[in-house]
Amino acid sequence: MQKIVAAALGRAEIEYVRPFVIASGPMRTATSVIVALRSEDGTVGIGETTCMTAYTGQTEEGVTAALEHWLLPAIMGLEPTAIQQVHYIMDRHLRENDLAKAAVDIACYDLAGRLLGVPVYELLGGKVRDEVRLAWAVGLGTVDEMVAEAVDWASRGFAIKVKIGIEPEQDLRNVLAIRKAIGDEAILRVDANAGYDVATAVSILPRMEEANLQLIEQPVGRYDLPGMARCRAVCRSPILADESQHTPLDTLNILRAGAADIVNTKIVKPGGLYPSRQVAALAEVGGLKAMVGSMPEIAPDGPGLGVELRETVELRWL
Ligand SMILES: [Mg+2]
Repeated sequence: MQKIVAAALGRAEIEYVRPFVIASGPMRTATSVIVALRSEDGTVGIGETTCMTAYTGQTEEGVTAALEHWLLPAIMGLEPTAIQQVHYIMDRHLRENDLAKAAVDIACYDLAGRLLGVPVYELLGGKVRDEVRLAWAVGLGTVDEMVAEAVDWASRGFAIKVKIGIEPEQDLRNVLAIRKAIGDEAILRVDANAGYDVATAVSILPRMEEANLQLIEQPVGRYDLPGMARCRAVCRSPILADESQHTPLDTLNILRAGAADIVNTKIVKPGGLYPSRQVAALAEVGGLKAMVGSMPEIAPDGPGLGVELRETVELRWL
């Protein structure tokens, strides 16, 4: 197998088509840090991590410094298929910093796939199904704006995920109005982004379930697993952990606390595809469902729906 002999860094800034407002605040732009890894024969693999600082607490500057000064020098000379070794070496050089590690992890999988001539999903064990339903997140706004956006995306076949978590009675009115507008068949979820305290959550959520919710995402704080468990006890809809679910250890603690029915494993949160598979394996054996979420990453052929790329990405070889 080819060895990794060079690395490059880049950055990309994407702009939301309109500000995306969630319980923790509005977001107008999102920044990605890009890693390129080159093997001896000149093949290049690309990895990306999204900082989403208000959500993750990690900054672009911190992620870039961790990569440039600690992680990328440490993995030179390793083989991109030796992903356990890559993580072992990264963890020995620098604790945590999972977003930075995710960029390296994803670049290793991409490089390994290119060298072996197979798509990454085959490296991960192949596919189970051909289609996955996507959800559209409706940010906080006026009820008319939120209803119009939900109707638009539900008509295209998307599941609708409505942001809640700031003002409970207004959240209730928004969710009931959206259910009425999109009809009974459309899939409707809510996401509080850790915005409620437990007392608010246990009083408002059972009323919100009148809207026939497929799931309720992160009603209370990231570290409040007993509070998540209390919500679970009073709601018939499944409770999904997002902010509470970053690392494999989080999955274990969620299982121990009975804090959720589903975990949202966004690939960069625990440090890339390798630890995300550990999250999924723990969830599976523990009886939780695992959902794959995403940050506002740039798709291979350009930014995703609802965001625009500000400028072309330029790579700086180290
Ligand atoms: Mg969420």
